[in-house]
Amino acid sequence: MNMTHPFRDLDGDKLREECGIFGVIGSKDAAAMTALGLHALQHRGQEAVGITSFDGQEFYSRRGIGHVAQVFSSEGLLGELPGAMASGHVRYSTTGGSGLRNVQPLFADLASGGFSIAHNGNISNATTLKRELVRKGAIFQSTSDTEVIIHLVATSRYPTLLDRFVDALRLVEGAYSLICMTSEGMIACRDPLGIRPLVMGRIGDAIVFASESVALDVVGAELIREVEPGELVQVDHKGIISSHRPFGTVNPRPCIFEHVYFSRPDSLIDGLSVYEVRKHIGVELAKESPANADLVIPVPDSGVPAAIGYAQESGIPFELGIIRSHYVGRTFIQPSDGARHADVKRKHNANRAIVEGKRIVLIDDSIVRGTTSMKIVQMMRDAGAAEVHMRIASPPTEHSCFYGVDTPERSKLLAARMDVAAMAEFIQADSLAFVSIDGLYRAVGEKERNKSCPQHCDACFTGDYPTRLTDFADRIGSDQPSLPIEKVA
Ligand code: SF4
Repeated sequence: MNMTHPFRDLDGDKLREECGIFGVIGSKDAAAMTALGLHALQHRGQEAVGITSFDGQEFYSRRGIGHVAQVFSSEGLLGELPGAMASGHVRYSTTGGSGLRNVQPLFADLASGGFSIAHNGNISNATTLKRELVRKGAIFQSTSDTEVIIHLVATSRYPTLLDRFVDALRLVEGAYSLICMTSEGMIACRDPLGIRPLVMGRIGDAIVFASESVALDVVGAELIREVEPGELVQVDHKGIISSHRPFGTVNPRPCIFEHVYFSRPDSLIDGLSVYEVRKHIGVELAKESPANADLVIPVPDSGVPAAIGYAQESGIPFELGIIRSHYVGRTFIQPSDGARHADVKRKHNANRAIVEGKRIVLIDDSIVRGTTSMKIVQMMRDAGAAEVHMRIASPPTEHSCFYGVDTPERSKLLAARMDVAAMAEFIQADSLAFVSIDGLYRAVGEKERNKSCPQHCDACFTGDYPTRLTDFADRIGSDQPSLPIEKVA
């Protein structure tokens, strides 16, 4: 986790969701459907992709470095993945680095048969568990945190695979949405707090699981519901679905940043349109932090819905004052070291005809290191903007995420180093404001943040991490005021 990505310079000033997962059981086109579903989840991971399928006898797997369309570029490749059950994974590097051996789904032959696993999230005690497993003789094939789960399942003494799986999950901390395959069928589950998303859908007789509802839309499946926090949904090859809730009851804490940035705007999370929530954040921002300006301009694409909300609430006209190139490749060759400043311009360029002489409100979803914001403000000034007021559709990102999101170390986060006035000076804006944490909660339909029992994970804004973080204890404060106390179900 927290690696520097070779291709991230274009978007280097964003937090990054690190994985997307998809699975289907009961379809004759399982692998092709999985490739299509993963394509819709490509924004959640652009470094590597893998698909594993099962034809009733054997498991088949193909994994590669690159985008879904690159790795699964011909029907022939999908022909190597027969069977009515398949699952897949798109990723950036999470724990363990970027080698092919870490590309998921991971697969192992256990005493009970084949077991494949695709994971979105991060196991925050994986290093500690791995040390203990290695001491007992386990040999790891990858450096991925996810492999710890396979070893825990393999060494559990419970009689059924489901019990062994639950036994393994009781030992892990952190965030996990998982899609697993065995010869008996598919198991999809979310950690007890439901930090990372997972939805369930249906197409014909097939059952589909995906990180986001947009992947169901794209394959033509109908959304049934979310996999609930702490729930394991098991589907066998006859299509029989069973739901299990083996963990104690705790109040869920789904990641609030999914609404702000990670999820696609055409997804639904917990019944809410991501697009509508983002617009609503813009409304809250306009109420909390108005600006005397002529135009509202989004930083595309992620700032667009919040800018529409800001413009509607403030009455200030919305304009596309920055145009985004959609043809920025990952492997663009830098003309020279000195051309690094061109990164932002290659992707975003000022629309001078709109901006010149105007006082503008720039809307972006977040500020991480601040470097991109600084360049975009400068770009607006170079295009003749009279004033540049920056408004951010999330609270200041002051803390690192340990739940499967690629975040710089805390010392690199601008908001961890400076107050808002100093940040405004750093990015050279005439004014800077962030939506408040309660404003963000209002946008997701709450009255306010419940301080003693927050309705979401918001730790990157508040530092209030909702789980134990054994492997990262030295990197967080000792104060975790809302750490859930597990109640026996
Ligand atoms: S720390 Fe932030 S990004 Fe990470 S899960 Fe929590 S809200 Fe999401």
